[in-house]
Amino acid sequence: MDLGIAGKWALVCAASKGLGRGCAEALVREGANVVVTARGVQGLEATAAALRALAPGVEVRSVAGDITTEAGRAAALAACPQVDILVNNAGGPPPGDFRDWGRDAWLAALEANMLTPIELIRATADAMAARGYGRIVNITSSAVKAPIDFLGLSNGARSGLTGFVAGTARQARLAARGVTINNLLPGSFDTERLRAGFASVAASSGRSPEAVAQARRQLVPAGRFGTPEEFGACCAWLCSVHAGYITGQNLLIDGGAYPGTF
Ligand code: NAD
Repeated sequence: MDLGIAGKWALVCAASKGLGRGCAEALVREGANVVVTARGVQGLEATAAALRALAPGVEVRSVAGDITTEAGRAAALAACPQVDILVNNAGGPPPGDFRDWGRDAWLAALEANMLTPIELIRATADAMAARGYGRIVNITSSAVKAPIDFLGLSNGARSGLTGFVAGTARQARLAARGVTINNLLPGSFDTERLRAGFASVAASSGRSPEAVAQARRQLVPAGRFGTPEEFGACCAWLCSVHAGYITGQNLLIDGGAYPGTF
């Protein structure tokens, strides 16, 4: 299937590793030019080189910086001639107990996982509408649908973004002018972040990281973790010309882990 996005410009945030990188790879394979961001220069440059090798002829630009800061967002936007596709992503907040989180912890979580994507939507959506095409995909979490108690910062901040998207995506000024905004909700994907989580549980419980991973795997009907490649493919399809009638939605990608009908 030709996704019809060759030559479009995509800004993919937090994309040197994991799910963001999976999205950038899938978009590049479809012929989209990309701007990728991450905080560390070395990892980002290695990823940008790998992306260029995937699709010669496609333009890949890299911008090192913290996307949760105003300066980081400004640099990312300045590197993209026009944003036709925006993939919002950033690191997730740390786990813990709400009793230990003061105002600063909450503000950091809101900044990263709610206000940063909202700021980037604000900076790009109207120009997309003026051109008659735009795709915005926010990487959130299955925790929005099935909250995880020790991820309270994530549950809260991402739910705020989800509520904002539900209303904004339905504005006729966007929806009737070719702009869609959707959220992708990952369950368990085999990334560095997931593996770091297993290592930390292992260290505090005396089990091996593999035992912790296996226990989690057993909760997934698919019997395995997802891959960044298959996450990226879903993202690229949502960004395609074929997905123009899907907006304001929350798509769970979790191998069947969420047990409800809807
Ligand atoms: P990861 O740690 O493998 O990769 C994160 C990427 O984001 C890296 O490239 C890192 O450099 C970049 N990054 C982090 N903070 C940044 C910042 N402030 N500015 C710029 N770049 C930044 O993580 P992942 O597993 O790909 O997760 C991506 C997002 O999806 C996170 O918010 C995570 O909480 C969420 N999520 C992941 C899973 C999963 O199973 N992997 C499940 C649910 C939610």
